[in-house]
This record gives sequence, C-alpha cells and structure tokens, in this order.
Amino acid sequence: MKFPIYLDYHATTPLDPEVLKTMLPYFTEVFGNAASRNHEFGWTAEAAVEKARHQIAKLVGAQHDKEVIFTSGATESNNLAIQGVAEMYKEKGNHIITSPIEHKSVLDTFHFLEKKGYEVTILPVDSYGQVSPEVVRNAITPKTILVSIMTANNEIGTINPIAEIGKVCKEKGVIFHTDAVQAAGKIPLNVEAMGVDLMSVTAHKIYGPKGVGALYVRRKNPRVRIAPLIYGGGHERGMRSGTLNVPGIVGFGKAAEIAVRVMQDEMAQIKRLRDKLWEGLQKNLDEIYLNGHPTERIANNLNFSFAFVEGESLMMGMKELAVSSGSACTSASLEPSYVLKAIGVGEDLAHTSIRFGLGRFTTDEEIDYTIEKVVETVKKLRDLSPLYEMVKEGIDLKSIAWTGH
Ligand SMILES: *Cc1c(COP(=O)(O)O)cnc(C)c1O
Repeated sequence: MKFPIYLDYHATTPLDPEVLKTMLPYFTEVFGNAASRNHEFGWTAEAAVEKARHQIAKLVGAQHDKEVIFTSGATESNNLAIQGVAEMYKEKGNHIITSPIEHKSVLDTFHFLEKKGYEVTILPVDSYGQVSPEVVRNAITPKTILVSIMTANNEIGTINPIAEIGKVCKEKGVIFHTDAVQAAGKIPLNVEAMGVDLMSVTAHKIYGPKGVGALYVRRKNPRVRIAPLIYGGGHERGMRSGTLNVPGIVGFGKAAEIAVRVMQDEMAQIKRLRDKLWEGLQKNLDEIYLNGHPTERIANNLNFSFAFVEGESLMMGMKELAVSSGSACTSASLEPSYVLKAIGVGEDLAHTSIRFGLGRFTTDEEIDYTIEKVVETVKKLRDLSPLYEMVKEGIDLKSIAWTGH
C-alpha cells in the first residue's frame, strides 16, 4: 500500500495511463493547429479533435457531435452556459433560477449577474440536497430564461431528479442547464432523456487531464443560442474562440470513451468498497451521521459527520488519508460548508464532517486501512472530549445553561 491513500476523487482524479498514452503524440509529432485548414498538420489535429468530440457526445448522449463545445474546464463551461444564455435572451426576460448547493462556478456567476440587474431565485433544497421539480415549476415566471441545477453534488453526492426538472422546464419553455461534472462516468447521462439543453463536464474528474472541459449546447428542440465569453477567431462555432488544446481534448475524448465502456462494472466495484467503508464506520462508531441521500447518491461518495470530533483535527490525526472536510477553510475564516448549511446540518455537525471520495484505483486494502484509521482516530479524539463523555453519561447537552456563549 502506498501512503497517503487518495480518497479525494471528487476534487480531481489521476490521469488514466491509457489516456496519457493516447495524448503523448499530440505534444510532439502531431502538433498541428486544428484550425489550420490548408495542410496535413492541421487536418490531422482537426481529425483528432473531431474524434474526441464524438466521444464526448457519446458520454452525454448528444445526438450530434457539433453540439459539443470544448472549453478550459467546467468552471468555464458553467460561466459560458449561464452568462451566455443571460446575454442572448435578455430581451425575453431577466429571471434566472438555481439551487444553493451548486458549485461556486455556478453560484458566483449568478451573483455576478444579480449585480448586473438580473433577478435571481435560489431555490430551497430538502435535507438530502434534492431540488423538487414542483418547486422549480412554481418558481418559473414569464420572465424566466434559465434554470441551472446540478446533476450530482460534489460534497454530499446527492443526485437530483434531473429528468423531472427537465420536463418542467420544457413544458414552460425555459432553457435548462445542468452541471454534470460529478455525475459523468458515475451514472448514465443522456441529454435527451434528461431534457437538458446545456450540460457542463470536465476531463480531470474522469481520469483525463486538467484544464479541458466541454459544454453541450442543444441544436434542436429547441435550438439554444449562447453569447460567447471570449471573442477571436470564431472557433467552436463562434461560441469559444481560441486555439484548441489538442492533446488535452484528445485525452478528454479517450477518458470519456473509457468511462462509457467501464462505467457499469467500475461503479459496481466502487459501490462495494463504499458500502464496506460505510458499514465499517457505522459498526464501530456511534454518533455518526450520513450527509446526503441514502440511496440517490453517486456510488463513489460517502460524507459523514462525526459528532464531537472537529473535522480539521480528525484530518490532522490521520494524515495517511487524503480526504476532505466540511469545514475546510475556503476563506480566511473557518466557515462550515455552505452545502451542509443549505441542507440544514447544524454548524456543530457541519464542522465534524468528512468527505470520502472513492475512485478507479481504490483497493480493498486501502478501505480496510481507512476504516481502522478513522475508527481509531475518532475514538482517540472523543476520549479527549468532555462533551462526548457527558453525552455517554446520559446528560442532555441542550439542558445545560452554558455561560460565555
Ligand atoms: C470540479 C467541479 C467543477 C469545476 O470544474 P473545473 O474543470 O475544475 O473547472 C464544477 N462543478 C462541479 C460539481 C465540480 O465538482
């Protein structure tokens, strides 16, 4: 076993060796600019890009390869989708809708547009992190031009009822965007079945390279138009100018092809390991709480709050494990996760949460070690916790009149 054990596959994934092999020639021998229309170098590069475009189209279930636009990653795809629709359809309306547990690249884009004068609705989510299609329906007004709801959440793994939300949007004639970054390669994606008009994906979360992503843009029923963020040579049908990152795109295509091919078996294996971890923790520890949906969750995610144990201390106590905490200081202040807050997890429990993200290269041995290490560290920290001791002695903490608070 190699240490530290990587259990942070939601943050990024290692490049699959097969992906690297496919990319390598495109750095050296096959170095052409895919936009060079007048010689062999350009044609070869263009053919490689078009092959990758087809592979991404297959990943998202697009009917036409042309509906796939390459970007620098999902942050850009989300910005392009949301700002692109807001600008293009501003005569039609200025109301846009999202959820409070979206990735920052969605939320911050909404905040930016709100400052520019758009009307923003942030829908509530339930205690599992799901958005109800009926809540979406009731929020739509004649001025609504866009709904953006993620397919699966990156912290708690909850999967949204996307097809039902897509149906509502279609009925109401509103464009529907989904950030499918965490769902790609984990659950089958199909923009037709899901009623999705715009879908963001990225290579580095599916064993491809960092810095390359894609946006699916529907061309029929309805034909969706988006204003570009970047002006220039008119690449990507004018929606995203800039010389294409050919090696990155080739790697993304290969990663997508592998994901489609192995998904079913891989997810069965990862789910088995995830359930082993889940059982191992639950069997050996009390006062632990699952965050997110018990069944409607991506197979590689497990997020637990370990009451009376501060997440950051827990991580410090088990440096052999590369996991992520719900109180990770994203800012200077130690703010608990906004996702946990939105699903109603109290501040205390939010600070005790740990996200385990499993992936293609996670082994049984690693999970066995992880169970042992987490159980041991949680028990050790709880032994030092007067609060935990009081609870074990049957004292109701809520009955105590705290001073100094
Ligand atoms: C990682 C992630 C992104 C950002 O993707 P990048 O390619 O790193 O910009 C967006 N949305 C979700 C849900 C993510 O997990």
